[in-house]
Amino acid sequence: MSDPEDEDEGEGSTAERKMRFLFQLRSRGVTDPRVLEAMERIDRGLFVRGQFADRAYEDTPLPIPCGQTISQPSVVGLMTQALSPGLRDTVLEIGTGSGYQAAVLSRLCRRVYTVDRHRRLVQEAEAIFRQLDLPNITAQIADGSRGLPDQAPFDRILVTAAAEDPPGPLLAQLKIGGIMVVPVGQSDAVQTLIRVTRTDAGFEYDELRQVRFVPLVEGLGQT
Ligand code: SAH
Repeated sequence: MSDPEDEDEGEGSTAERKMRFLFQLRSRGVTDPRVLEAMERIDRGLFVRGQFADRAYEDTPLPIPCGQTISQPSVVGLMTQALSPGLRDTVLEIGTGSGYQAAVLSRLCRRVYTVDRHRRLVQEAEAIFRQLDLPNITAQIADGSRGLPDQAPFDRILVTAAAEDPPGPLLAQLKIGGIMVVPVGQSDAVQTLIRVTRTDAGFEYDELRQVRFVPLVEGLGQT
């Protein structure tokens, strides 16, 4: 039974829910104040529909259409932190999914290009970007394993699907001084999140943590 007071100050109130959401993020290592602020502003509840909507503020990945998942909030925070986007940066995200990660990024950089192989996901995400008035995001249907050559090079690239290795075209589309964050490993196992930094001399690789993402699949989806 719901207590009418819950609406204002109980466990179910918006303020309380937001506080718990941010507390969870901090306790899992998301400490960058800019990232926390962006995640406070972008309501994850808008990106999760249907039977899982009431779990949008839990620190858990959830199913979205086309058999994909919206990432766990703390992983979104840690990846964004590792990417350290600057306010003047152009960022490419591979794997629009629900659009949540792109929306968070849009508050931290100049321009976000995000691509997904599923038309339905791109269209639904675009509708939310319009609703939230986030005009600095461009979403496209494309095979992200080839990057987005027309808009390259990028200051930052974030891959939110797991590849066996960092895809060559993406490495080539990273500016010198640029950073790419990508989960690598076999698709059905635990993967390692790595950060690739492009220097004058080549690429430097740091291993960040274990993660689990849906696989990066070549070619466009059927829907
Ligand atoms: N960033 C998303 C979660 C992504 S789930 C969010 O914030 O909700 C991974 C996404 O990568 C899926 O939507 C899947 O369709 C997409 N994907 C997988 N392989 C791809 C490819 N080659 N090109 C573009 N998108 C791809």
